[in-house]
Amino acid sequence: MTGHNADDDLAMESWLVSAGRDRRPGSPLNVPPIPASNFVFGERRAYSRDDGTAGWEALEEIVGGLEGGFSVSFASGMAGIAAIFDQLPAGSLIALPDDCYQGVAGLVEAGRLRGRWEVRRLAVPDTAGWIQACGEADLLWLESPSNPLLQVADLDAICAAPRKAGATLCVDNTFATPLNQRPLALGADLSVQSATKYIGGHSDLLCGVVTAREAGWLERLRHARELGGATPGTLEAFLAVRGARTLAVRLERAQANAQILAERLAEHPQVGLTRYPGLASHPTHAAARRQLAGFGTIISFDVRGEAGDADRVCGALRLIQHATSLGAVESTIERRASIPGQEHLPPTLLRLSVGIEAVEDLWADLDRALRSSAADR
Ligand SMILES: *Cc1c(COP(=O)(O)O)cnc(C)c1O
Repeated sequence: MTGHNADDDLAMESWLVSAGRDRRPGSPLNVPPIPASNFVFGERRAYSRDDGTAGWEALEEIVGGLEGGFSVSFASGMAGIAAIFDQLPAGSLIALPDDCYQGVAGLVEAGRLRGRWEVRRLAVPDTAGWIQACGEADLLWLESPSNPLLQVADLDAICAAPRKAGATLCVDNTFATPLNQRPLALGADLSVQSATKYIGGHSDLLCGVVTAREAGWLERLRHARELGGATPGTLEAFLAVRGARTLAVRLERAQANAQILAERLAEHPQVGLTRYPGLASHPTHAAARRQLAGFGTIISFDVRGEAGDADRVCGALRLIQHATSLGAVESTIERRASIPGQEHLPPTLLRLSVGIEAVEDLWADLDRALRSSAADR
C-alpha cells in the first residue's frame, strides 16, 4: 500500500495506528471521548457544532490521511451525503448509478419529486455514458463497487474526463474503503465513507466522513454541518477511531475469506449466479483488477429457487448473522429484495458481508444452510 499524504511516507496500515493522537507529554495515548457542547471563551473552540471537538478531529485526521484529502465527520454516512446534495443549486442535473445505496437513491428521488433537481440514471459499467455526463451534469455521483451488484466503475477514465464548469464528482467509497481505492488521487472531488461500516467495523455506531480534495469544499462541508447540525456523536467518534486502528487487519482477513467463499459458492449446486469482483466471471472483474487493491468483503449470490428458499437459507444459518449492514467483524447476510426500495433486485439475491471468522466455519455454515433449505423445499 502506498503512502497517504504529502508530508509523511508511512504505509496506510501504520498511519491508521499512529494518526489522530495527542503527542504532548502526559496526554492519554488516545483522545478520550469529549462530551462538550461549549468551551470556556478565549481559545479556538466556543461551541462544538461550529468548532468541532478534538475527538471528531482525530477521526478526520485518520480518514483524511487515508483518502488523501480534508475530512469532515458527520452523524452518519447519510448525514454527510445529504450535506453534499444540499450544496446543489436549484435545477441541477445529477448523474446517479442505476445500482447504488438505496438511501442515496431515496434522497435523490425525494429531491426530484420536490422539483429541486433532475436525475439521469446510468449503468455503472457504462463508461461512455458517464464520460458524456461529465460534460453535462452538475453532480456526478458514483458508487464503486456498487451496492449490491458489486459493479466496478471505470473511475480512472470517468474522473479524468472533462467536467462541466463547477461540476462536482463524488465517489461513495464505502465498499472499497480507502485501503482498496483512493478516488481523490484519481481526480474525484469528494469521497464518502459510511464510517458505520468498515471504519467502525463492529456494528455498534453510526458515523460518516466526507473527504474533499480541496480546502474550498472543506469549508463548505463544515458550514453545512454547522447549519444542518448533523454532528457526530461523542462516543461514536471515539469508537470509530478505535475501530479504524484495526481496519487494515480486519479487511485483509475478511477479504481473504470472501475470495475463498465466493469461489466455493460459485460451484455450489444450490447457488445460481455468484457476484464478487474477485471472480474472473464477474462482469467488471477487469476494472476491479486495475483499480482496486483488494476485491472487498461483500458477495451477492442467488439461491436457486424462490424468495422463500433464500429466506430459509438466512433462517438456517447459525454463525452468520441474519442482519442488515456490512463491513463488521461478524459476517451478516440479508435478502436484499426484501428491503424497501430494493424490490427490483433478483428475489433470491443474498448479500453476504464476510467477517473475520475462520473461513472453514463460515463455509460449513453456508453449505449446511443451503443444503437444508433445498431439502425442505
Ligand atoms: C450504509 C451506506 C451508506 C449510508 O451510511 P449510514 O452511515 O448508514 O448513514 C451510504 N453508502 C453506502 C455504500 C452504504 O453502504
